[in-house]
Amino acid sequence: MQFYNQLKRQKQEFIPITAGEVKIYACGPTVYNYFHIGNARAFITFDVLRRYLEYRGHKVVYVQNITDIDDKIIIRAQEEGMPFNEFTAKYIHAFQEDCAALGIKPPSYQPRASEVISDIIDAIQLQIKKGYAYELNGDVYFDTSALPEYGMLSGKKTEDLLPGARVEENTLKKHPADFALWKRSKPGEPFWDSPWGQGRPGWHTECVVMSRKYLGETFDIHAGGIDLLFPHHENELAQALAMSGKLLANYWLYNGFLNIEGEKMSKSLDNFFTARDILHQYSAEAIRFFFLSKHYRSPIDFSREIIDESERAVNNFYSALKSVNYLKIVAQPNDSYATQEEAFIQAMDDDMNTAKAIAVLFELTHQCKNVNLPYSEREQAALMLVKLGEVLGFFQNLSDRLKETLPELSQELIQLLINYREQARREKNWALADQIREDLISLGIELRDTTEGCIWTFKS
Ligand code: AMP
Ligand code: ZN
Repeated sequence: MQFYNQLKRQKQEFIPITAGEVKIYACGPTVYNYFHIGNARAFITFDVLRRYLEYRGHKVVYVQNITDIDDKIIIRAQEEGMPFNEFTAKYIHAFQEDCAALGIKPPSYQPRASEVISDIIDAIQLQIKKGYAYELNGDVYFDTSALPEYGMLSGKKTEDLLPGARVEENTLKKHPADFALWKRSKPGEPFWDSPWGQGRPGWHTECVVMSRKYLGETFDIHAGGIDLLFPHHENELAQALAMSGKLLANYWLYNGFLNIEGEKMSKSLDNFFTARDILHQYSAEAIRFFFLSKHYRSPIDFSREIIDESERAVNNFYSALKSVNYLKIVAQPNDSYATQEEAFIQAMDDDMNTAKAIAVLFELTHQCKNVNLPYSEREQAALMLVKLGEVLGFFQNLSDRLKETLPELSQELIQLLINYREQARREKNWALADQIREDLISLGIELRDTTEGCIWTFKS
């Protein structure tokens, strides 16, 4: 199994620290809004990573934090006149609800920054003690010049880092690239007591502390969207190196952006659709399919046409399963489709090539529907389709979807045709009555005339 490891700038064989066990930290949301489908791309990508590793027999410990202390949260909570923890509680709840609706597995641990303040203070004290951090009027900064490895993850050099952009400005800082580990609170802002006075932690310190607390000094995979590479992850790595001299994680994986009209979908650009809203228009599986049909590192453009196509592709999985009456299959899986499973593994082992893995699902869908194959073969194709589809997070409500009856309108249209057929019979227009019956049969709908009138069923 290979992953593109940002730390090495190349694909690398994946070797977990402990055989059979994989520890992952994926950065979670900053909870000041409903999350958008750009964020959903990150959550779904690493949900699939986790599912795949589990399918390959690893025990996975998956930590996804919740950033519930942050400047934007403070501003928004103040605007809404709410204490910050009441404000974040609302969006944490919404986050969990939306993740469940998207079929994302709950993480093994979901720590919140506000719960680990004493660990954060300990970590900052350790960095000061080791000579990598300094206090400045109640703020504490990381001294980037003290760490020769600074920039090893993103490839940025401290000389290139000028004040501005996302680097906090403070004219007294030793170097413009130095970043805040602790920020003194202004009047009216939430605060915690610390050796440096009342304040709150910086974002980069929150994540390095939460990941180490749950996964240890060095774990296997650190993941997130590509915007987190710099400065967020670079600054997490720097603190870990400062504290222990060890890498925070061995593999650093990044998903590409979901763009909209060529720009990153983001809360700050206000060009986003929330996952909640999109889920009113499309199924969770269509959204998942939309993302997985491209490689996770490539950028994707938001496109309603392609999500529509994804919806049709997912429906096609279900119609294939219906065509072999999947819920009634009694046959045990055999190795008829082992080659397809191997192709799927080969694709996923190659830096999670989900697009190729989905091509295998398509092939199985065709086999399911192929009436020239023996029925037992088609059943085997269906069993394999579900097995591999589940690895990508599809088919989570399989039996409900397969039991689904027609939408109301379709039922009403069938009834309408039955009424016309009865009218034709009353008028002794037998040719038309028979034609309606035949046409319905060709659509898989059978009519039965009973003493109670005509009833219809799906052709068995
Ligand atoms: P945030 O709530 O902004 O901290 O982001 C949560 C996760 O979503 C992080 O892993 C981000 O890198 C990721 N993310 C944010 N915007 C996008 C986007 N437009 N496309 C893909 N991933 C994104
Ligand atoms: Zn983080």
